Amino acid sequence: MKKLEDYVRSIPDFPEKGIVFRDVTSVLQDKDSLKMSIDQMQALLDGKDIDVIVGPESRGFIFGVPIAYNLNKAFVPVRKKGKLPCETIEMEYALEYGTATIEMHKDAIKPGQKVAIVDDLIATGGTIEAITKLIESLGGIVVKIIFLMELEGLHGRDKLKGYDIETVIKYE
Ligand code: 5GP
Repeated sequence: MKKLEDYVRSIPDFPEKGIVFRDVTSVLQDKDSLKMSIDQMQALLDGKDIDVIVGPESRGFIFGVPIAYNLNKAFVPVRKKGKLPCETIEMEYALEYGTATIEMHKDAIKPGQKVAIVDDLIATGGTIEAITKLIESLGGIVVKIIFLMELEGLHGRDKLKGYDIETVIKYE
């Protein structure tokens, strides 16, 4: 039987020369690997007491919502600046070239709520570091961070010291 990692398509030189892009659309477009990906990510939350799942646009939505639904928890989206209609808080973070700004609704997390963050992939860790700051500025407690994939060579975990982080598939 094929393993989950066998379904991830690796695209050389995308979006730029020298980058090997790990494509999740090939995981999503097969019913067996779609189920495996959700089940195996969800299993990383076993035994964790959480109130809310937070996921960033857009692949964090794809994995975060079914996990929240299965666990009967709430889901809170993190979006690129300018997309959310109500009062927001924002955080700017560094990209390879330039910066990006992400936002969350101010009323999305209540002080003391226990939060798990879900995304498809950790590379440099910049996106998730910014999200932890947003959650914590609202009084939320980040109790777990899970990914489908991790690019270990980019040392994203170094930015996230002290957090409980687990990933399903690791690449060097
Ligand atoms: P980071 O902030 O950790 O450097 O980048 C992580 C973000 O970039 C994630 O939200 C992820 O969706 C996206 N990303 C970066 N590289 C890849 C890749 O190779 N494959 C996929 N699917 N997403 C990537």
